[in-house]
Amino acid sequence: MEHNTAAARDESRQPSAHDLEVLSRQLGRPVRDVVEIPARCICGNPLVAATAPRLSNGTPFPTTFYLTHPVITSAVSRLEAAGVMNEMNDQLAADEDLSAAYRSAHDAYLAARNAIGERSGIGAVPEIDGISAGGMPTRVKCLHVLVGHSLAAGPGVNPLGDEGLDRIKEWWTADKCYCEGAWDTAGEAPSRDLSRHGPQGLPDIVGRPAPVRKSAATAEAPE
Ligand SMILES: [Zn+2]
Repeated sequence: MEHNTAAARDESRQPSAHDLEVLSRQLGRPVRDVVEIPARCICGNPLVAATAPRLSNGTPFPTTFYLTHPVITSAVSRLEAAGVMNEMNDQLAADEDLSAAYRSAHDAYLAARNAIGERSGIGAVPEIDGISAGGMPTRVKCLHVLVGHSLAAGPGVNPLGDEGLDRIKEWWTADKCYCEGAWDTAGEAPSRDLSRHGPQGLPDIVGRPAPVRKSAATAEAPE
């Protein structure tokens, strides 16, 4: 059985048309330049989307792993609201082993992004060399980024993303599907063809948690 918090197996990385539709429903807006699905729910739905390191409009894009599952994004938002990022920054200042592991997570993030750039045919993006996301390598500025990285990379790569996952386990755990009712499944998915998203459309997602979509009716049929 596939371990869904480990890196998805190669054949499941490629986003299908259905994946892209689910992503747009999870986020409540169209998605652009998603090149891989690096982590999935046990049911197969995306948990994390990987965005190309260079967008189709040419913009370099350092935030590779974006948490999309509304149950996880809202749980991580609860941690942020409770001040967990301040705690983590204090931990980083006090614990040399942790700060070294966090620097390694930054390096792993950059390596993973380079690999995605290669696999997707985009190649090197020198403008963002050495720039990761979420505050790495020395600070915690967005816990969603760190948790997205941990889900994509599997445990043991990003210590603070792993800690975030551990601290949301009363709301989400990898061994269960939390998809039903987590986003609207009725009606049309947010269209990829509407013209609202020009060059500014995608950079909006940088470092921002996805909006929590409440299902209007619990009676909605699952897909
Ligand atoms: Zn699921």
